[in-house]
Amino acid sequence: MPLLFDAHNHFQEFPDPAAAAAGLRPAVCCATGPADWEEVRSLAEAVPGVVPFFGVHPWSVAEAGRDWLAPLGQLLRDTRSGVGECGLDALKAPPLAEQAEAFKRQVELAVLLDRPLAVHCVRVWGPLLDILRASRPLRFLVHSYSGSADMTRELAALGGYFSFGPGIMDEKRVKARAALAEVPRDRLLFESEAPQGADSPAELLARAHAAAEKMLGLPAGSAAEISARNGAEFLGSLAEGR
Ligand SMILES: [Zn+2]
Repeated sequence: MPLLFDAHNHFQEFPDPAAAAAGLRPAVCCATGPADWEEVRSLAEAVPGVVPFFGVHPWSVAEAGRDWLAPLGQLLRDTRSGVGECGLDALKAPPLAEQAEAFKRQVELAVLLDRPLAVHCVRVWGPLLDILRASRPLRFLVHSYSGSADMTRELAALGGYFSFGPGIMDEKRVKARAALAEVPRDRLLFESEAPQGADSPAELLARAHAAAEKMLGLPAGSAAEISARNGAEFLGSLAEGR
């Protein structure tokens, strides 16, 4: 079994991150706020192939307080890392204006430091697009993507990548499955979403690949190849030596 590129996970939530990362390389491990930055930093140093991303998740905006921006900038400068997970989520507190402010600051940091950006978006596509258009990050991915065909075109025109997880195996996830068909092949990525459960992240990712190959009519093994190629483009110099 070849090593698989994992576009999004939270290995810090696993009791044994090295075991969670088995078979996945490179693997983007996203922190969610100041509370887990150190954990993600040290696990990325300890586990080969793990690329750390540091940010403030929309769900963590309130508990992150007010003074996270300067420490985040310092952490990004000190480590070979990307920015995120960050974004907008209509289904969770805090209020959208606070989420948007935090997201904007992080997109600006990604632009300033020339780092890839990991974006989370649930049902707030218009405001998300406005912020990305205003700041123009060079490389960003939207994880667990389920936007409309129009949104896919808009985000792709900005240079976006689109990541799909094991959720696409569920026939009830109609939007995500429709989105998969719309994404340009050179922007397609897959993620384990690092859910804890009976199956390892690598097994889940391999099953998501197989489901996508079936839906898109691609030969077996091509999702892993596409992922590896696009993942290297997305990570840029962060992929070197991982
Ligand atoms: Zn996440």
